[in-house]
Amino acid sequence: VPELPEVETIARDLNRHARGRRIREVIIHAPKLVVPLTVNAFQGGVRGKTILGVKRRGKFLLVSLGVSARKPTHILLWHMRMTGHPLFRDERKETPEDRSAFADSRNRHIRLSFRFTDGTRLDYSDVRKFGTLHLVDPDHISTHRSLVAMGPDALDPSWTAEKLHEALRKRKKAIKVALLDQTVIAGIGKIYADEILRTARLHPLLPTRRLTLADVRRMFRAIRTVLPRAVRARGTSIDDYRDLRGRGGKYGNVRRIYQRTGMPCFRCGATIARIVVGGRGTHVCPQCQRHPRP
Ligand SMILES: [Zn+2]
Repeated sequence: VPELPEVETIARDLNRHARGRRIREVIIHAPKLVVPLTVNAFQGGVRGKTILGVKRRGKFLLVSLGVSARKPTHILLWHMRMTGHPLFRDERKETPEDRSAFADSRNRHIRLSFRFTDGTRLDYSDVRKFGTLHLVDPDHISTHRSLVAMGPDALDPSWTAEKLHEALRKRKKAIKVALLDQTVIAGIGKIYADEILRTARLHPLLPTRRLTLADVRRMFRAIRTVLPRAVRARGTSIDDYRDLRGRGGKYGNVRRIYQRTGMPCFRCGATIARIVVGGRGTHVCPQCQRHPRP
Protein backbone atom coordinates (compact mmCIF):
# COMPACT_ATOMS: atom_id res chain seq x y z
CA VAL A 1 0.00 0.00 0.00
CA PRO A 2 1.61 3.28 -1.03
CA GLU A 3 1.95 5.46 2.10
CA LEU A 4 3.32 9.01 2.41
CA PRO A 5 6.95 8.17 1.44
CA GLU A 6 5.88 6.18 -1.63
CA VAL A 7 3.32 8.77 -2.81
CA GLU A 8 5.86 11.58 -2.19
CA THR A 9 8.40 9.69 -4.32
CA ILE A 10 5.81 9.26 -7.08
CA ALA A 11 4.86 12.98 -6.95
CA ARG A 12 8.51 14.10 -7.19
CA ASP A 13 9.20 11.68 -10.05
CA LEU A 14 6.06 12.75 -11.92
CA ASN A 15 7.22 16.38 -11.69
CA ARG A 16 10.55 15.30 -13.11
CA HIS A 17 9.34 12.96 -15.89
CA ALA A 18 5.74 13.82 -16.76
CA ARG A 19 5.33 17.55 -16.07
CA GLY A 20 4.96 19.59 -19.26
CA ARG A 21 3.79 16.64 -21.34
CA ARG A 22 0.50 16.89 -23.22
CA ILE A 23 -2.06 14.07 -23.13
CA ARG A 24 -3.06 12.83 -26.58
CA GLU A 25 -5.38 10.13 -25.26
CA VAL A 26 -6.08 7.97 -22.23
CA ILE A 27 -6.79 4.28 -22.67
CA ILE A 28 -8.92 2.78 -19.91
CA HIS A 29 -9.06 -0.98 -19.37
CA ALA A 30 -10.81 -0.82 -15.98
CA PRO A 31 -13.71 1.68 -16.19
CA LYS A 32 -14.46 1.42 -12.45
CA LEU A 33 -11.26 3.38 -11.70
CA VAL A 34 -12.77 6.60 -13.10
CA VAL A 35 -16.27 6.24 -11.57
CA PRO A 36 -18.42 8.37 -11.15
CA LEU A 37 -17.36 9.56 -14.63
CA THR A 38 -17.91 7.41 -17.69
CA VAL A 39 -14.89 6.38 -19.74
CA ASN A 40 -15.95 8.89 -22.43
CA ALA A 41 -16.37 11.78 -19.98
CA PHE A 42 -13.00 11.08 -18.35
CA GLN A 43 -11.27 10.85 -21.73
CA GLY A 44 -12.93 14.09 -22.87
CA GLY A 45 -11.79 15.85 -19.67
CA VAL A 46 -8.10 14.98 -19.98
CA ARG A 47 -7.62 14.88 -23.77
CA GLY A 48 -5.35 17.70 -24.99
CA LYS A 49 -4.43 18.78 -21.45
CA THR A 50 -0.88 19.29 -20.24
CA ILE A 51 0.39 18.06 -16.86
CA LEU A 52 1.16 21.37 -15.15
CA GLY A 53 2.44 19.97 -11.85
CA VAL A 54 1.89 17.32 -9.19
CA LYS A 55 1.39 17.68 -5.45
CA ARG A 56 0.73 15.21 -2.65
CA ARG A 57 -1.68 15.40 0.24
CA GLY A 58 -1.76 12.43 2.63
CA LYS A 59 -1.80 9.42 0.32
CA PHE A 60 -3.43 11.37 -2.56
CA LEU A 61 -1.75 12.67 -5.70
CA LEU A 62 -3.13 15.99 -7.00
CA VAL A 63 -2.23 16.34 -10.69
CA SER A 64 -2.94 19.78 -12.20
CA LEU A 65 -4.12 19.59 -15.82
CA GLY A 66 -4.65 22.53 -18.17
CA VAL A 67 -4.20 24.04 -21.60
CA SER A 68 -2.13 27.02 -20.48
CA ALA A 69 0.48 27.02 -17.73
CA ARG A 70 -1.40 29.69 -15.77
CA LYS A 71 -4.60 28.09 -14.65
CA PRO A 72 -5.49 24.40 -14.38
CA THR A 73 -8.83 23.33 -15.85
CA HIS A 74 -8.93 20.12 -13.78
CA ILE A 75 -7.25 18.52 -10.82
CA LEU A 76 -6.82 14.77 -11.16
CA LEU A 77 -7.28 13.48 -7.60
CA TRP A 78 -5.60 10.09 -7.67
CA HIS A 79 -5.51 7.49 -4.89
CA MET A 80 -3.62 4.23 -5.43
CA ARG A 81 -5.27 2.30 -2.56
CA MET A 82 -3.90 -1.23 -2.10
CA THR A 83 -1.69 -2.17 -5.02
CA GLY A 84 -1.51 0.70 -7.53
CA HIS A 85 1.44 2.67 -8.91
CA PRO A 86 2.11 4.66 -12.11
CA LEU A 87 4.95 3.86 -14.51
CA PHE A 88 6.53 6.35 -16.91
CA ARG A 89 7.53 4.78 -20.24
CA ASP A 90 9.72 6.20 -22.99
CA GLU A 91 10.39 3.06 -25.01
CA ARG A 92 12.77 4.79 -27.45
CA LYS A 93 15.21 5.49 -24.61
CA GLU A 94 14.83 2.38 -22.46
CA THR A 95 17.86 0.22 -21.69
CA PRO A 96 17.68 -3.58 -21.19
CA GLU A 97 17.78 -2.93 -17.41
CA ASP A 98 14.83 -0.55 -17.72
CA ARG A 99 12.89 -3.16 -19.66
CA SER A 100 13.66 -5.87 -17.12
CA ALA A 101 12.44 -3.54 -14.29
CA PHE A 102 9.16 -2.96 -16.14
CA ALA A 103 8.83 -6.73 -16.67
CA ASP A 104 8.50 -7.23 -12.85
CA SER A 105 5.13 -8.95 -12.32
CA ARG A 106 3.99 -6.07 -10.05
CA ASN A 107 4.31 -3.72 -13.06
CA ARG A 108 2.30 -5.77 -15.52
CA HIS A 109 -1.28 -5.14 -14.43
CA ILE A 110 -1.89 -2.05 -16.58
CA ARG A 111 -5.43 -0.74 -16.02
CA LEU A 112 -5.10 2.67 -17.63
CA SER A 113 -2.56 4.47 -19.82
CA PHE A 114 -2.09 8.19 -20.52
CA ARG A 115 -0.53 8.55 -23.98
CA PHE A 116 1.42 11.80 -24.47
CA THR A 117 1.78 13.68 -27.77
CA ASP A 118 5.57 13.07 -27.80
CA GLY A 119 5.21 9.26 -27.84
CA THR A 120 5.90 8.73 -24.12
CA ARG A 121 3.23 7.40 -21.79
CA LEU A 122 2.17 7.03 -18.17
CA ASP A 123 0.83 3.54 -17.40
CA TYR A 124 -1.02 2.68 -14.21
CA SER A 125 -0.48 -0.83 -12.82
CA ASP A 126 -2.92 -1.98 -10.13
CA VAL A 127 -3.28 -5.71 -9.37
CA ARG A 128 -6.48 -5.37 -7.38
CA LYS A 129 -8.04 -2.39 -9.25
CA PHE A 130 -9.00 -0.52 -6.04
CA GLY A 131 -7.40 2.77 -7.13
CA THR A 132 -9.52 5.85 -7.88
CA LEU A 133 -9.00 8.71 -10.37
CA HIS A 134 -11.36 11.65 -9.92
CA LEU A 135 -11.44 14.74 -12.16
CA VAL A 136 -12.20 17.72 -9.94
CA ASP A 137 -12.87 21.38 -10.71
CA PRO A 138 -9.90 23.33 -9.22
CA ASP A 139 -12.34 25.71 -7.49
CA HIS A 140 -13.87 22.77 -5.61
CA ILE A 141 -10.75 20.79 -4.73
CA SER A 142 -10.38 22.13 -1.18
CA THR A 143 -13.95 21.08 -0.37
CA HIS A 144 -13.79 17.69 -2.09
CA ARG A 145 -15.19 15.06 0.30
CA SER A 146 -11.99 12.97 0.14
CA LEU A 147 -9.86 15.90 1.31
CA VAL A 148 -12.20 17.83 3.57
CA ALA A 149 -12.29 15.12 6.27
CA MET A 150 -8.54 14.59 6.12
CA GLY A 151 -6.39 15.46 9.11
CA PRO A 152 -3.10 17.36 8.84
CA ASP A 153 -0.49 15.86 6.55
CA ALA A 154 2.14 14.04 8.62
CA LEU A 155 4.87 16.31 7.18
CA ASP A 156 2.84 19.57 7.28
CA PRO A 157 5.32 22.15 8.67
CA SER A 158 2.59 24.00 10.59
CA TRP A 159 1.54 20.86 12.51
CA THR A 160 2.91 20.39 16.04
CA ALA A 161 3.15 17.76 18.80
CA GLU A 162 0.76 19.88 20.90
CA LYS A 163 -1.90 19.81 18.16
CA LEU A 164 -1.45 16.05 17.81
CA HIS A 165 -1.80 15.60 21.58
CA GLU A 166 -5.03 17.60 21.49
CA ALA A 167 -6.42 15.51 18.59
CA LEU A 168 -5.52 12.22 20.31
CA ARG A 169 -7.09 13.19 23.64
CA LYS A 170 -10.50 13.32 21.92
CA ARG A 171 -10.27 9.75 20.60
CA LYS A 172 -10.83 6.46 22.33
CA LYS A 173 -8.65 4.22 20.27
CA ALA A 174 -5.46 2.22 20.41
CA ILE A 175 -2.58 4.43 19.27
CA LYS A 176 -1.84 2.25 16.24
CA VAL A 177 -5.48 2.57 15.10
CA ALA A 178 -5.29 6.36 15.55
CA LEU A 179 -2.06 6.54 13.50
CA LEU A 180 -3.80 4.75 10.62
CA ASP A 181 -6.87 7.02 10.84
CA GLN A 182 -6.47 9.57 8.01
CA THR A 183 -8.80 12.03 9.79
CA VAL A 184 -6.27 12.23 12.68
CA ILE A 185 -3.03 12.27 10.64
CA ALA A 186 -2.81 11.88 6.87
CA GLY A 187 -0.23 9.72 5.13
CA ILE A 188 0.60 6.87 7.54
CA GLY A 189 -0.27 3.22 6.86
CA LYS A 190 0.66 -0.18 8.28
CA ILE A 191 4.40 -0.16 7.52
CA TYR A 192 5.28 3.26 8.93
CA ALA A 193 2.85 3.04 11.88
CA ASP A 194 4.86 0.05 13.16
CA GLU A 195 8.17 1.79 12.45
CA ILE A 196 7.07 5.00 14.18
CA LEU A 197 5.75 3.24 17.31
CA ARG A 198 8.94 1.17 17.59
CA THR A 199 11.07 4.32 17.26
CA ALA A 200 8.93 6.12 19.89
CA ARG A 201 8.93 2.98 22.10
CA LEU A 202 5.15 3.01 22.43
CA HIS A 203 3.02 -0.14 22.52
CA PRO A 204 0.50 -0.20 19.62
CA LEU A 205 -2.37 -1.03 22.01
CA LEU A 206 -1.84 2.02 24.26
CA PRO A 207 -5.12 3.97 24.45
CA THR A 208 -4.66 7.47 23.00
CA ARG A 209 -6.18 9.10 26.11
CA ARG A 210 -3.38 7.69 28.24
CA LEU A 211 -0.57 9.24 26.21
CA THR A 212 1.24 12.05 28.03
CA LEU A 213 2.48 15.12 26.16
CA ALA A 214 5.99 13.66 26.54
CA ASP A 215 4.84 10.42 24.85
CA VAL A 216 3.24 12.37 22.00
CA ARG A 217 6.35 14.54 21.57
CA ARG A 218 8.43 11.37 21.25
CA MET A 219 5.99 9.97 18.71
CA PHE A 220 5.90 13.25 16.79
CA ARG A 221 9.72 13.22 16.57
CA ALA A 222 9.54 9.60 15.39
CA ILE A 223 7.06 10.60 12.63
CA ARG A 224 9.43 13.36 11.53
CA THR A 225 12.42 10.98 11.54
CA VAL A 226 10.96 7.81 10.02
CA LEU A 227 8.96 9.37 7.15
CA PRO A 228 11.76 11.61 5.75
CA ARG A 229 14.20 8.68 6.04
CA ALA A 230 11.76 6.55 4.02
CA VAL A 231 11.36 9.36 1.43
CA ARG A 232 15.16 9.45 1.05
CA ALA A 233 15.13 5.65 0.56
CA ARG A 234 12.36 6.09 -2.08
CA GLY A 235 9.86 4.04 -0.07
CA THR A 236 9.37 0.38 0.79
CA SER A 237 8.84 -2.37 -1.81
CA ILE A 238 8.28 -5.42 0.42
CA ASP A 239 4.74 -5.52 -1.02
CA ASP A 240 3.56 -4.24 -4.42
CA TYR A 241 4.98 -0.73 -4.56
CA ARG A 242 7.41 0.16 -7.37
CA ASP A 243 8.55 3.61 -8.50
CA LEU A 244 7.84 5.42 -11.79
CA ARG A 245 10.68 3.49 -13.45
CA GLY A 246 9.38 0.17 -12.16
CA ARG A 247 12.06 -0.20 -9.48
CA GLY A 248 11.80 -0.90 -5.76
CA GLY A 249 12.47 1.52 -2.90
CA LYS A 250 15.20 0.75 -0.35
CA TYR A 251 13.54 1.44 3.01
CA GLY A 252 12.82 -2.29 3.44
CA ASN A 253 16.61 -2.79 3.87
CA VAL A 254 16.83 -0.35 6.79
CA ARG A 255 13.45 -0.95 8.43
CA ARG A 256 13.47 -1.58 12.17
CA ILE A 257 10.46 -3.79 12.80
CA TYR A 258 7.92 -4.17 9.99
CA GLN A 259 7.70 -7.87 8.98
CA ARG A 260 10.63 -8.81 11.22
CA THR A 261 8.56 -11.28 13.30
CA GLY A 262 10.83 -13.76 15.12
CA MET A 263 13.99 -11.74 14.46
CA PRO A 264 15.95 -9.90 17.18
CA CYS A 265 15.20 -6.25 17.97
CA PHE A 266 18.07 -4.05 16.74
CA ARG A 267 18.03 -2.12 20.01
CA CYS A 268 17.62 -4.75 22.77
CA GLY A 269 17.88 -8.16 21.08
CA ALA A 270 14.43 -9.34 22.23
CA THR A 271 12.42 -11.34 19.68
CA ILE A 272 10.00 -9.25 17.59
CA ALA A 273 6.41 -10.43 18.06
CA ARG A 274 3.38 -10.17 15.82
CA ILE A 275 0.06 -9.18 17.36
CA VAL A 276 -3.26 -8.07 15.89
CA VAL A 277 -4.45 -4.48 16.48
CA GLY A 278 -7.72 -3.29 14.95
CA GLY A 279 -7.75 -6.37 12.73
CA ARG A 280 -4.26 -5.73 11.33
CA GLY A 281 -1.02 -7.58 11.79
CA THR A 282 1.30 -5.45 13.93
CA HIS A 283 4.98 -5.89 14.79
CA VAL A 284 6.15 -5.09 18.28
CA CYS A 285 9.26 -5.44 20.49
CA PRO A 286 8.08 -6.85 23.85
CA GLN A 287 10.98 -5.10 25.66
CA CYS A 288 11.16 -1.68 23.98
CA GLN A 289 7.38 -1.32 23.69
CA ARG A 290 5.88 -2.40 27.02
CA HIS A 291 2.30 -3.60 27.01
CA PRO A 292 0.00 -1.10 28.74
CA ARG A 293 -1.24 -2.04 32.22
CA PRO A 294 -4.97 -2.87 32.26
ZN1 LIG B 1 13.67 -3.97 21.60
